[in-house]
Amino acid sequence: MTQIVPIRHLFGPGPCNPYPEATAALALPLLGHLDPAFIARMDRTAAGLRTLWGTENSRTLPLSATGSAGMEAAFVNTVKAGDVAVIAVNGLFGERMCEVASRAGAEVVRVDHEYGTPVDAQRVADAHPNPTVIAAVHAETSTGVLSDMAALGAIKGDALLIMDAVTSIGGMPVLADEWGVDVAYAGTQKCLGVAPGLAPFTISDRAFERRVQKPQSWYLDLGLLGGYTTGGSGGGRTYHHTAPVGMVASLEAGINRILAEGLDNVTARHQAAGQALQDGLVEMGLTLFAEEGYRLPQLTTVNVPEGVDSAKVRAYLLERFNIEIGGGVGKNANTVWRIGLMGPNANPNSVALILAGLKEAIA
Ligand code: PLP
Repeated sequence: MTQIVPIRHLFGPGPCNPYPEATAALALPLLGHLDPAFIARMDRTAAGLRTLWGTENSRTLPLSATGSAGMEAAFVNTVKAGDVAVIAVNGLFGERMCEVASRAGAEVVRVDHEYGTPVDAQRVADAHPNPTVIAAVHAETSTGVLSDMAALGAIKGDALLIMDAVTSIGGMPVLADEWGVDVAYAGTQKCLGVAPGLAPFTISDRAFERRVQKPQSWYLDLGLLGGYTTGGSGGGRTYHHTAPVGMVASLEAGINRILAEGLDNVTARHQAAGQALQDGLVEMGLTLFAEEGYRLPQLTTVNVPEGVDSAKVRAYLLERFNIEIGGGVGKNANTVWRIGLMGPNANPNSVALILAGLKEAIA
């Protein structure tokens, strides 16, 4: 029997509902992965990503896996046994960075911050005199907090700076070159408004020159991936693995959608929707989890009121209104909700829907 798939409002921490243009592109005729028409598409996609990253890096490409593969690629290509990785931890994804870096052999120096607070660049600077890399999450999806990457760029010294921009790219300003970021990765399923499946990635010449030769991952070896895109190499595209051509078409369409609206307009739309949601939640008598002044507009963390069952409310929203919101993570799993307004969902209709739904669910 045919199963009817519910049509959800994806207001959790991701994936969000994709832009219609990104979904439509999945139905385009498939191209071979070495077809000149696909190579041109890959080049256009890389160019679009450079604009979104705020970088001139020739080595900018969508890696063929989710955001966590971007994280793996960042570390396996920059650290090897004995190298020091100073990692700012203010949420789950900073924690994951520590795990990934230590599996790559690095000596990890964690700089722990209270969840809900931003990264303190001075504490990171003081953690080690001469690290190989410094890494931080720009927009911590687990806590809803924004950190200042430019401040880390200012203190990085000779280290390479790695930025997780999974939740920031396409929803807020990302200026990798201006901030001194050497390596950055993202995911498609958040503010880019595309289904999950690719990890946009960028690496500076400086970082590429210092890269680990023969990293433990063959698939994510940036040296081998050089020929996968034509960008920078000039030697034409060669086979490394079969590019996920359908997903790249979808990503190109998502990027084009964002650029057609205008990056500033898209940022302003995310900002306005997030602010309206946060104001509405406070008006309802709820309190916000992330520290004031550092709250992400695209991902709001709100404290579950005393006596309210977090999971029951989420189930009610899903069953009655087809609204998905997220729970918290770690020790905040049942005490925080995470509400995402990303990509096409960053609009006043979504705000009204969530506020109305939540009012009814809590009552
Ligand atoms: N980093 C951040 C900040 C994220 O929010 C996520 C996913 O939510 C990831 C990394 C991991 O990405 P993925 O789940 O696509 O592998």
